[in-house]
Amino acid sequence: MLKSHSCGELRLEHVGQTVTLAGWVNRRRDMGGVIFVDLRDRDGKAQVVIDAGRSADAFAVAEQVRSEYVLQVVGQVAARPEGLQNPNLPTGDVEVLATAVTILNPAKTPPFLIDRDDNVDETLRLKYRYLDLRRERLQRNIVLRYRAVKFIRDFLDQHDFIEVETPILFKSTPEGARDYLVPSRVHPGKFYALPQSPQQLKQLLMVAGYERYFQIARCFRDEDLRADRQPEFTQLDMEMSFVERDDILDLIEALMVGMVQHVSLVPLTTDKFPRLSYREAMERFGTDRPDLRYGLELVDISDIAGKSAFRVFAENVAAGNPVKGICVPGCGHYSRKEIGELEEIAKSAGAKGLATMALDPDSGEMKGFITKFFTVEQLVALTARLGAEPGDLLLFASDEARIVYAVLGALRDEMGYRLELKNKKELSFCWVIDFPLFEETLEDGHYAPSHHMFTAPKREHIPLLDTNPGAVLSEQYDLVCNGFEVAGGSIRIHERPLQRKIMELIGFSWQEAEDQFGHMLEAFEYGAPPHGGIAPGIDRIVALMAGEPNIREVMAFPKTAQATDLMSDTPSFVAQKQLDELQLALKAPAKKNG
Ligand code: ASP
Repeated sequence: MLKSHSCGELRLEHVGQTVTLAGWVNRRRDMGGVIFVDLRDRDGKAQVVIDAGRSADAFAVAEQVRSEYVLQVVGQVAARPEGLQNPNLPTGDVEVLATAVTILNPAKTPPFLIDRDDNVDETLRLKYRYLDLRRERLQRNIVLRYRAVKFIRDFLDQHDFIEVETPILFKSTPEGARDYLVPSRVHPGKFYALPQSPQQLKQLLMVAGYERYFQIARCFRDEDLRADRQPEFTQLDMEMSFVERDDILDLIEALMVGMVQHVSLVPLTTDKFPRLSYREAMERFGTDRPDLRYGLELVDISDIAGKSAFRVFAENVAAGNPVKGICVPGCGHYSRKEIGELEEIAKSAGAKGLATMALDPDSGEMKGFITKFFTVEQLVALTARLGAEPGDLLLFASDEARIVYAVLGALRDEMGYRLELKNKKELSFCWVIDFPLFEETLEDGHYAPSHHMFTAPKREHIPLLDTNPGAVLSEQYDLVCNGFEVAGGSIRIHERPLQRKIMELIGFSWQEAEDQFGHMLEAFEYGAPPHGGIAPGIDRIVALMAGEPNIREVMAFPKTAQATDLMSDTPSFVAQKQLDELQLALKAPAKKNG
């Protein structure tokens, strides 16, 4: 080794020892005759003192070094003189009095400062990711990620799971996104699909009798990337045989609680995760991934509003639609402009407009255009129902239930930000269960699965598949944290006829089902055990535990929102020869490679 100790490990107990350190120049200060270098390695920083009086050679070398040079230093550990200790540094009681300094490699001036957590443009950070990764914040995140995954592996090992790798070159498994395709050279015209998840394979491992499988699995989904998605991401993929829903929920809950307690920088709100039905989540929070760190719950006022003289409300209630509202404390003073901003949010969530009322902070008098359509008794009932106090703002939505949820869910989210109710120092988990099996009815009369097509309907709802598929509830469960879906899973279908039936409802012809999933359907005929699984997203959970706003901060080499890697300039053109080998021709003429 080119070093005897790490920079970060030096303490008073090392005083008197001669050590060899190697690392990067974090900072260099020339005091005239004495040069101080903070030498940094993965473990931390040590102060090196290079005194011309002690070693003229070492001093001459130190005079040339700059930030991020790679050095090897030999010297003696000494206690720092009284009053010069640095309590903010773990090595702050000691320094190394250098007798020899060797430059292992010089460095150009980095495009941004490594030793400061400045707000550097993300494009630059991604282009020089290897420099960004040197910075303390990312080192902390990447180490935290490692610890989280290690905790997961140890925990699951103790619970009798085994890790099995599944192929990356496989067949399309629909998870609701587009596949990344890989052309086969050996079989021209044929393609592999990169797995959107190992869903089929983990189920086949259950058929194969492995009973408890997991994998830290890479998944690939070619979606138009919304702000914080990645084309490839990592999930803890799991599957168990002979289980019921609550076995999986209890196990994952214990795993999450243990992991947060061991590695997280952000603590849990509660170590017993509340369980909400999908319906309850929608009714109370307007979303199936409720952020439980704050209230601002949706309140049904259909009975009161339906009797008012406000036509929109009355007509909607008569048509069987709800009127709901949320009470935003202390925002009764909102200006026309601010209300206008909220109205824009409501409209982009599907509303035609936004009805509001405000309670005067002093008199408590109700203001707002729609107030005049309500009797005094109705207004009193409304305030009581919403728990409104003087100074509060009331926001209403009335439409089809799904629009009401979307609108008030979006407004609740916005007000959560505006009122700073989303405490970054808190992890608030909950389960959402009892999802509908199908998300929506498609134009051609088929149904889109709300999870994926391998999810089992609730046993008692199977007869409804023939009469009212839209009403069927499933064995899907999602784990939600701070408003993010951090895991999704389900008890699966394990019988061929039921799987075929669901495929039909989704719109697969017999032939398509056989072509794409014949192997699964056949496997179900060879003694498939009842089974179920789940897949927590590692990137998001680690980001939450690190207190980071986006998952790029916890991935070593993430892609941009345009699915590019700025460091290596990927994707890139390939040589004509490579295309020829694959027997592929591009429609648009390829630019010259590079
Ligand atoms: N395959 C699902 C997903 O990746 C998870 C599961 O059902 O286990 O979201």
